[in-house]
Amino acid sequence: MLPRRISQRSALESERSLSHRRKIRRRGESTHSLWLRVRDGVFKRPLLGQLREYVDEQMSGMRERLVHRLRPYVRSMRYGIRAARYLFGKFPRECSVCGYHGRFFAYGNPLGFGLNLDALCPKCLSLERHRLLVLCDKDRNLFANKEILHFAPEDGISTYIRSRGPRRYITCEYGSSNADLDINIEAINLPSGEVDLIVCCHVLEHVSDSKALPELFRILRAGGVLVAMTPVIEGWARTFEDDTKLSTIDNRLLYFNQHDHVRFFGSDVRDRLKSVGFAVDEYTATEPEVSKYGLIRGEKVFVCKKPI
Ligand SMILES: [Zn+2]
Repeated sequence: MLPRRISQRSALESERSLSHRRKIRRRGESTHSLWLRVRDGVFKRPLLGQLREYVDEQMSGMRERLVHRLRPYVRSMRYGIRAARYLFGKFPRECSVCGYHGRFFAYGNPLGFGLNLDALCPKCLSLERHRLLVLCDKDRNLFANKEILHFAPEDGISTYIRSRGPRRYITCEYGSSNADLDINIEAINLPSGEVDLIVCCHVLEHVSDSKALPELFRILRAGGVLVAMTPVIEGWARTFEDDTKLSTIDNRLLYFNQHDHVRFFGSDVRDRLKSVGFAVDEYTATEPEVSKYGLIRGEKVFVCKKPI
């Protein structure tokens, strides 16, 4: 019979060994196979060190995969936070429409599905295109002493045109009582040769230009001018329009950037204007006006003259 102390130690070791085997089983590896690996010298270092190394490797891989997956979210949020900081202006600008000097607010981008920072004048609500049109007027003297028909007028620019002393100023909008006349631009109910100047900003991308342009040409006097502005993708030789993409709001947003747009003009917009008889000139602001007045770089005002 073994001495009592040896018997107690043996029982204790047996219990530890059992507990160790249970732990190994929970990790999904049989005690026997582990023993074989120990016996064959697979483990050169202590088992605990091996396991720690394995866990570290796994954690490091998980960390890398997580970082890779989160990267676009982080970048997008970082840009979003930066844009949110500038929602109400980054740089002081000047409004060519109302004379305001200070920060402009963010507003929708007419060429892309996003925000334009420093776009909206908080005083007169003018956008980049309105301020560009005013600069064009200062350069070409478009409005003074003219009989003007203004399609889809917006407040700031409307006030500006009135301040320029036109001989007559008539506003029109299709299906609205907010303007002087209710006119369908595709079938204008006015006599031919009626007006000196037509202002048509961001309208042609909403309607059939093949119907509207001949009508605009018709109602102008000889020597009259159509001032037209529209989003243009200069890198596209041909206008993109596709009737099959017009059936749903989502499709119009996806392809034309706005729920009620029906095309994106390419650089051939000039050919379309010329095709009805206009002589087409264009105005583009450069620096320092672009940054001073918060304009869209490269945006055009098409000044289309009906020949005499
Ligand atoms: Zn303004």
